[in-house]
Amino acid sequence: MSNVLVLVDHTAGKVRKTTAELLTIARRLGEPVAVFIGEGVQDALPALGQYGATKVVALTNPELTQFLVAPKAEALQQVAAKIEPSAILISSNAEGKEIAARLAVKLDSGLITDAVDVAAGDGGPVTTQSVFAGNYTVQAKVTHGTPIITVKPNAATPEAAETSPEVEEFDVSISDLAKTARITESKPREATGRPELTEAAIIVSGGRGTGGDFGPVEAFADSLGAAVGASRAAVDSGWYPHAYQVGQTGKTVSPQLYVAAGISGAIQHRAGMQTSKTIVAINKDEEAPIFELVDFGVVGDLHKVLPAATEEVTKR
Ligand code: FAD
Repeated sequence: MSNVLVLVDHTAGKVRKTTAELLTIARRLGEPVAVFIGEGVQDALPALGQYGATKVVALTNPELTQFLVAPKAEALQQVAAKIEPSAILISSNAEGKEIAARLAVKLDSGLITDAVDVAAGDGGPVTTQSVFAGNYTVQAKVTHGTPIITVKPNAATPEAAETSPEVEEFDVSISDLAKTARITESKPREATGRPELTEAAIIVSGGRGTGGDFGPVEAFADSLGAAVGASRAAVDSGWYPHAYQVGQTGKTVSPQLYVAAGISGAIQHRAGMQTSKTIVAINKDEEAPIFELVDFGVVGDLHKVLPAATEEVTKR
C-alpha cells in the first residue's frame, strides 16, 4: 500500500483535531505517515497512533521553527523524496496553504486547496471543493506529480484506528534562501475557553442585529460548547474582533452546526459559512436572504430567542 504524508498541525505536541481528520482521510488513500515538525513528538504520539499513523517522521531541526514557512516546505520536499508518497495532505490554514504552495513548486506537482472531501479514485485522490462563494461544487484530481491537497477543517469525522507508530528522526538541511524571515516574537491569542473558530463543530455568529450586545450570542455558544463568530458589519462596528469574522474577507468555516443570529445573509458572509452541515438563522425579518439557505429558521428577536434557547439547552 502506498504512503500518504500528513503534516501534523500541533502546538508544542498538542495535536489539533484537523490532524485526526487528515489521518482519517489518509487511511482512505493508503498508509498514513505523519510528519511532525518541532518539539513534543512524544506528547503527540498517542493522538497520532489513535487515528492510524503507521509511522511518524520527526523533524527537530530548530531552524524549522525559527523562521517563517519556507524551511518547512524544504523539509517536506526532502521527506517526500525519501518516502515517495502517493499524496500529501496538509491542513487548510494560512500556514498550511503557504507550505503546500511552496512544496508544489519544489516537487513540480499539482496542488488542490480547500478540499471539503477527499476520496480514493482511479489514478489518485479525487477532491471535492466548494467554489464561487459556495455556488458550485467541484470534483478535481491532480494530474501531474504527487497530489498535494490542503483540506478544510471538519471535512471528515475523525475515526479512531489504533496503531503504535514508530518515530523516525529525520535530518533535513535548510538553505540560506529559506532563512530570510526570522520569527522574532510569537504571542498566543488570549484564551477564551472556546474552540478555535475554524475547527469548531458548532459556531454561533452574531451580526448587526445584535445591536452591539454579543452577550446572548456568547451565552448560547457557551451552552453548546461552541465558538463565536461575527459578520463584518459587527466587526466593522467594533463590536467583535476581526479574528472572529466569518466570510469572504474573514474566516471560512464548515462546522456541523452554524447559527446566524441577526445576520442578513449577504453573499460575502455566505461565502465563509455556506458549506456548514446544518444552518440555523434567527432574524426578525422573515424576508431576510439568510432564510434562503437555512435548514431551520426562527423569525424573531435574537435578544428573546437566544436566551430562551440557552435556558432550554442548559436545562438538559
Ligand atoms: P445587516 O446586513 O445589516 O443585517 C442585519 C440583520 O439583522 C438584518 O437581516 C435584520 O433583519 C436582523 N436583525 C436586526 N435586529 C434584529 C434582532 N433584534 N433580532 C434578530 N434579527 C435582527 N460580510 C461578512 O459578514 N463577512 C465578510 O467577510 C465580508 N466581506 C466583504 C467583502 C467585501 C469586498 C464587501 C463589499 C463586503 C463584505 N462583507 C462581508 C459585508 C457584507 O456585504 C454585509 O454588509 C455584511 O455581511 C452584513 O452584516 P450583517 O448581516 O450583520 O448586517
